[in-house]
Amino acid sequence: MNKKDKTYFRKIILEKRDALLEELGLLKETAVEESSRESSGNPSNYSYHMADLGTDSQEREKAYLFLTRENKYLGYLNEALERLERGEYGVCNMCGEPIPKKRLEAVPHASMCVPCKTDVKENGSK
Ligand SMILES: [Zn+2]
Repeated sequence: MNKKDKTYFRKIILEKRDALLEELGLLKETAVEESSRESSGNPSNYSYHMADLGTDSQEREKAYLFLTRENKYLGYLNEALERLERGEYGVCNMCGEPIPKKRLEAVPHASMCVPCKTDVKENGSK
């Protein structure tokens, strides 16, 4: 991968990461807002809130799972950036063949070419 490609993909990864961080930031704000609203709530409503807690914690669970998944994705993007700096980016870590640029554009954190990825998936499901 030449210098121009590196710059090109670094830009793509950084843009994805920025968008993701923004999304995560917004989510965290929402979570904080909700918990502060709850703690400052009218004490007479407490039992009502307790009864309602089931749905609340379900919502929180969903938000948490989403955050976990997005954080994982963030990790992949950071790894991709590291590979880029080490000059290992865009090479399949299974077969060592270059990953097609089209695939990298679609999945910038890809560390495997499509045939290898498919192989892993098929073997994993057996
Ligand atoms: Zn491969």
